[in-house]
Amino acid sequence: MLNVDLHCHSTVSDGSLSPAAVAARAKAGGVDVWALTDHDEIGGIPQAREAALALGLRYVTGVEISVTWARHTIHIVGLNFDEKNEDLIKGLQSTRSGRERRAHEMAEQLAAVGVPDAFEGALKYVGNPDLISRTHFARHIVETGICRDIQDVFSRFLIEGKPGYVPHRWATLQDAVKWIRGAGGIAVVAHPGRYDLTDMERDVFLAEFKRAGGTGVEVVTGSHTVEEFGIYTRVARAHGLLASRGSDFHAPGESQTELGSLPPLPPSLTPVWHDWRI
Ligand code: AMP
Ligand code: MN
Ligand code: MN
Ligand code: MN
Repeated sequence: MLNVDLHCHSTVSDGSLSPAAVAARAKAGGVDVWALTDHDEIGGIPQAREAALALGLRYVTGVEISVTWARHTIHIVGLNFDEKNEDLIKGLQSTRSGRERRAHEMAEQLAAVGVPDAFEGALKYVGNPDLISRTHFARHIVETGICRDIQDVFSRFLIEGKPGYVPHRWATLQDAVKWIRGAGGIAVVAHPGRYDLTDMERDVFLAEFKRAGGTGVEVVTGSHTVEEFGIYTRVARAHGLLASRGSDFHAPGESQTELGSLPPLPPSLTPVWHDWRI
């Protein structure tokens, strides 16, 4: 059976390894088919592809788009698209455009609760000036000793309702799916278990996602518990969605899930890659 890992990050967004180093880590983890899915950014694709092909990995283009849906932030993974597509490139650029201002606001709020100079601190971890993320703030705040680990930073400062959290309007669901589909790719809901949605809201969301042209959902992801593998297997089947698998790897020592290490998709599901020529 193919080891397929279709979700992970590099220094082009909030990962700590270069695209080529993530490819090498995927290879070492036994991955056969690999996609790099940086947040709102496809600039890592040329390096990722070149490294993957040199290692004998089968490579698929990928991205993870931040979406605002009914006041929730939802992530939509795009796979197997043409990265030269103009509308996709422009759409991702507009999605990224508010991040620097947001980061300054986060830093102001953090300063007010005793975390000084967080903008400059976060910048030390940023590989792509266009993509300052909460993860970079978290790494800096761990370094200061104020928090013991990344999880601790998020729960004390960076999630909704906490003093460093700045609400943000990302892409619409319809636009994100349209950009991916328009570039010939497929749209997949990332880690559905991570959103604060009731079962009914989730069903409304998935129906709207399908109407927009979305076709897949992550079932086996590093962001799900084993119990959630079962829950989202049933959800995928009930909604007639294809299933995806990916570690959501970000950084050695930080990510709990290593590239290529997850269990396979349950055989009752149709994988997103069922009709790819891979
Ligand atoms: P941003 O796009 O700047 O809002 O940052 C989102 C990223 O922060 C996610 O992709 C994760 O890498 C990370 N993240 C979000 N929530 C948590 C959490 N509770 N614990 C650890 N990392 C998180
Ligand atoms: Mn991330
Ligand atoms: Mn995500
Ligand atoms: Mn991710």
